[in-house]
Amino acid sequence: VNGVWQDEGVASISVFDRGFLFADAVYEVAAVVGGKLIDYEAHARRLSRSLKELAIAEPMPAAELLELHRQAVSRNGLEEGLVYLQATRGAADRDFVIDPNAAPGLVLFTQAKTVLANPKAQTGLKVKCMPDRRWGRRDIKTVQLLYSSLAKSQAVREGLDDAILVEDGMVTEASSANLHIVDEEGVIHTPPLSEALLPGITRGSVLSIARDHAIPARESPISVEALGRAREAFITSATSFVLPVVEVDGRAVGDGRPGPITRRMRELYIASSLRTAI
Ligand code: PLP
Repeated sequence: VNGVWQDEGVASISVFDRGFLFADAVYEVAAVVGGKLIDYEAHARRLSRSLKELAIAEPMPAAELLELHRQAVSRNGLEEGLVYLQATRGAADRDFVIDPNAAPGLVLFTQAKTVLANPKAQTGLKVKCMPDRRWGRRDIKTVQLLYSSLAKSQAVREGLDDAILVEDGMVTEASSANLHIVDEEGVIHTPPLSEALLPGITRGSVLSIARDHAIPARESPISVEALGRAREAFITSATSFVLPVVEVDGRAVGDGRPGPITRRMRELYIASSLRTAI
């Protein structure tokens, strides 16, 4: 917390922190497998972009940030899980007008979690479509996650795994992951980047892996109808990697089991991300 290692029971920030009062903060989540960081450089680049978009100063030079991640992993003996980082504008008297003198803050912690042997990779996810009622700059990874949290919680209350968010009849993404479908021709589609969705690091890696293996993949808009007709569907995120979606709004996707292209993309992503882990 702001340069000091603290026990989780006592770690604290100011009640005047603008991250707390205004969600004036950005975050990153990088997966850890075998004690190594997955896709770290891309996460660090996206953090810089998020900070720049909101004119929050970089908390420290890139090399130090990587070193901090490594220290958190080794101090906590983390083998598998994630590193969560939050960079906030900092504390200031509560005012809608941003105080240019607020000193940016940084919080970083680890969380143990099963990443590789996720049972959902075998069973797949059941999801429901819900309206996308988030703010208009979803391309910035801010901590403004209330709607996403409410939507996913609602889905879980109904015995499902996640919510797929829909705007004007088009799918944007899942509550905390990007969505991809495989059409009747075996082509992977994922919505193109825009301010409507997060430029997922795993999404980017999966698209480039598909290109490298001559697996057809396109960035193209996905309507709710196209999702309903899809042969396969899957989500991607730092801690879920690639997970199959087997049911949408009570209807099976394809034959209702994880499809072959989804399974292949998960295997390829695991192989590639472990090879490049640092
Ligand atoms: N979309 C949203 C809204 C997310 O919150 C996340 C991850 O948390 C993603 C997509 C996936 O991004 P990444 O692959 O960088 O984890």
